[in-house]
Amino acid sequence: LLTAAAVPSADAGRPAYRDPRLPVPDRVDDLMARMSLDDKLGQMVQVERKAAGPQAVADHRIGSVLSGGGSAPEPNTPQAWADMYDSYQRAALSTPLGIPLIYGVDAVHGHNNVHGATIYPHNIGLGATGNPDLVQRIGAATAEEVAATGIDWSFAPCVCVARDDRWGRTYESFGEKSENASAMTSAVTGLQGEALGATPSSVMATAKHYVGDGGTTGGDDQGNTEISEQELREIHLPPFREAIARGVGSVMVSYSSWNGEKLHASTYLVNDVLKGELGFTGLVVSDYDAIDKLDGQEDFTPDEVRASVNAGIDMFMMSSRHEKFIDYLRAEVEAGRVPAERIDDANRRILTKKFELGLFERPFAQRDLLPTVGSAEHRELARQAVRESQVLLRNDGVLPLAKDGGKLFVAGKNADDIGNQSGGWTISWQGSSGDITEGTTILEGIRAAASGSEVTYDRHGNGVDGSYRAAIAVVGETPYAEFEGDRPGGLGLDEEDRATIAKLRASGVPVVVVTVSGRPLDIAGEVDGWNALLASWLPGSEGQGVADVLFGDHNPTGKLPMTWMRSFDQLPINDGDGQDPLFPHGFGLSYG
Ligand code: BGC
Repeated sequence: LLTAAAVPSADAGRPAYRDPRLPVPDRVDDLMARMSLDDKLGQMVQVERKAAGPQAVADHRIGSVLSGGGSAPEPNTPQAWADMYDSYQRAALSTPLGIPLIYGVDAVHGHNNVHGATIYPHNIGLGATGNPDLVQRIGAATAEEVAATGIDWSFAPCVCVARDDRWGRTYESFGEKSENASAMTSAVTGLQGEALGATPSSVMATAKHYVGDGGTTGGDDQGNTEISEQELREIHLPPFREAIARGVGSVMVSYSSWNGEKLHASTYLVNDVLKGELGFTGLVVSDYDAIDKLDGQEDFTPDEVRASVNAGIDMFMMSSRHEKFIDYLRAEVEAGRVPAERIDDANRRILTKKFELGLFERPFAQRDLLPTVGSAEHRELARQAVRESQVLLRNDGVLPLAKDGGKLFVAGKNADDIGNQSGGWTISWQGSSGDITEGTTILEGIRAAASGSEVTYDRHGNGVDGSYRAAIAVVGETPYAEFEGDRPGGLGLDEEDRATIAKLRASGVPVVVVTVSGRPLDIAGEVDGWNALLASWLPGSEGQGVADVLFGDHNPTGKLPMTWMRSFDQLPINDGDGQDPLFPHGFGLSYG
């Protein structure tokens, strides 16, 4: 009797895997012993929710669903997200073994697909703060908003080391140096908490994109990283080592190649280095439809499925075609070309994370956290991040501006546009201009800070004259994501920005230029005519943080996480490469 009582699995009717008192490895063993091959193949699939509703997920025993960039329910409210999540989870729980689903999104600067969520600066701005503790707090705040809607997993942080500003994902990087990204793996601890699943707001993090995504030739997105193994190991590998030391639950493989070999087929880099040498025990997820691209043809083939599973990828992120994937993989296993042990290893890794996250005990959305979505507290944290991310590059004394003396003129296409200041990965994949979510524009921030001054705004600078104390031009890039942001041809200001600044300068008043951009811009030819230059990066929803610096409520502390080119033809330009930059890595002025 005593012995029986001491054995938890003796619980009447309850299988051991359902017993939270048992160690996770025991629960995984028990569950796997009950799973068919089809159960196991389904766990390895992560499908875009638009291609598989709850019923399809249940029918195919699918292990994971994602909302790719911008794949939001209608209406796009936190509540609707939670409802959507719960309906998937109910379907998964209705299967014979009731294995909960794990649902992933790209919460890469806050819970950015959700209307009204707090939008933090993109990683390049966070890199400029040099403040890993702040980045950890942002991770924790983001996790609350994410968990409120049920989502369990974020494809963040991107620990890419961006080596070439032409790359459209430069802003997803904390900086050009390994040390920048390594320090900011504190985001992992923020998202997950001290241990995965330790609290209801724990969200699984992803270190991406393994490995060398920021080092491609020409800054080509999904391109080829042509560097020696020593360079790969010194520049691009260390942030993954750090993220693993922090217990990151997943690693996403890069679309890119290393010296001609696609990462998604690299047994050496995925199986041997990541899982073997670095000792990564979490789950390795593919990038979106990445296996389609292995052979340069559209769609995936049995060969591509086999190569990537055998290289060590555990879960396959796909837009659709989950049935075909399962059929192909089943055939490969039955023919002995993919070892059954490989399928078991993948399942062990996936199920371990599901147990650790507490999904078997807490499968549904954490609705008590819904009030945290876009809360005043989170917006204040974002504003602090914006303040600390501003890098003052030039100042003849015009900054800080007095709050109550004379008239100010504000112009520029990025002055009053919440979409532009948030950049890509905001509400939609590419992001977009306009009033796309809630927040405070930079202009609104300036108006609030300069309450004692008269602030006039005209996007194009029309109406400026010598009666103003200073004119502020908020210019730069408009939203883009991934390859759509690749700029092989140039990174100068556009015609509109040049015309706006020219108009302000012609008035004779001091001109402060604020750049909203995902990377350094090619401005050396113009900067001498500007009285001050503030790099704002992509600040997100809290524009007051920019005003905090312009008006001296915060003495600028941000430092360049990227070397700033003197001319476009210097690219790639990085610290220590012997080129003469306009502003070096680590540069940033303060007031007095
Ligand atoms: C990107 C990943 C992202 C995934 C899911 C891909 O296109 O490369 O960074 O996590 O889409 O949205």
